[in-house]
Amino acid sequence: MKHLSPATTTKGPTEMFTGDVHFDVIARGDAPSRLRVNTVRFAPGARTAWHSHSLGQTLHVTDGIGVVATHDHVIIMRPGDTVHTPPGERHWHGALPENFTTHLAMWEDDDATWGDHVTDEEYATATTR
Ligand code: MN
Repeated sequence: MKHLSPATTTKGPTEMFTGDVHFDVIARGDAPSRLRVNTVRFAPGARTAWHSHSLGQTLHVTDGIGVVATHDHVIIMRPGDTVHTPPGERHWHGALPENFTTHLAMWEDDDATWGDHVTDEEYATATTR
């Protein structure tokens, strides 16, 4: 076994995220494994762009209050909540307007497909409670 060095934090690139997002790589399997696990931290209002994962993704919230949305469904996520997005389902995830959130993101290295940024209107519609 091997005790891995602490991850260094990377700022989420602006092509894929809106607002202040940082992630730490927790696990990254060596081929043929395609395991990917990141801790992702979102400041209030921050979110991913629209995207999908060809083999799906599981999110597990560890802190704060988050949101994951598809074109017709919104789930507010609290610590301990786990949400799965199936293969190919277009979605985005992030923090609520007035809360930080942190989630574990678990997926396989699978050529995620990234699209447009989530507009302020789309974000407001999903997060207005
Ligand atoms: Mn995702």
